Amino acid sequence: MEDTFKHQALRKALVSEIKQKGIKSITVLQAIDKVPRHLFLDSSFLKFAYQDTAFEIGEGQTISQPFTVAYQSELLEVRKGDTVLEIGTGSGYQSAVLSALGAKVFSIERHKKLSEKAKLLLEQMGCTVKCFYGDGYKGLPAFAPFDRVIVTAAAPYVPEDLLKQLKPNGILVIPEGSGKTQIMKRIRKVAENKYTTEEFGNFSFVPMLKSTDWDTKTK
Ligand code: SAH
Repeated sequence: MEDTFKHQALRKALVSEIKQKGIKSITVLQAIDKVPRHLFLDSSFLKFAYQDTAFEIGEGQTISQPFTVAYQSELLEVRKGDTVLEIGTGSGYQSAVLSALGAKVFSIERHKKLSEKAKLLLEQMGCTVKCFYGDGYKGLPAFAPFDRVIVTAAAPYVPEDLLKQLKPNGILVIPEGSGKTQIMKRIRKVAENKYTTEEFGNFSFVPMLKSTDWDTKTK
């Protein structure tokens, strides 16, 4: 759990880099500055922890690029105390960033091993994140509605259940598309069953898999 001056200095450099790339929200930049990303990577990747790139975290999955984590967090317009549902816990890094923004985070992951690993790490770090092993397409009806929902895997379409689980004026940020790249979308629930959608450029995520594919596509 060490966070040395060297790590902190590397993190400051990363913050300037993503600021230059276009992240404007001070609170998001502060959250990236606060969260020790190196703790979410296997030790063999430590020297890459503060480069602005995605990395493998096991089970064929990746920890998202810091710019992408910051970009999605900015689009989400998180306010202190918001309840946020994340689909795709992965390493737990995005959850930790949302928690540093003051959100109460609920995160779902379909890989049991990853879910358990992230849960343990986030607990040790003192993050207020509730981790669930399950199917992100279904959301978490028992804890709904949420102020914000963020999907961190490539969704072939916008899952109806996730829209339903948004509060009025709630926001869903989701990379949509089943090809190599997806379009980042921000969807606002302006009234019951009424939504507005904005589009924000292309990104590349690992696929959000249907539970019927989990056995055949174990990775
Ligand atoms: N947010 C993560 C990166 C996620 S990568 C981080 O900060 O590290 C996308 C994750 O979504 C992968 O771990 C993958 O296993 C998970 N995933 C894919 N389909 C899913 C589904 N249907 N339900 C829940 N999680 C899913």
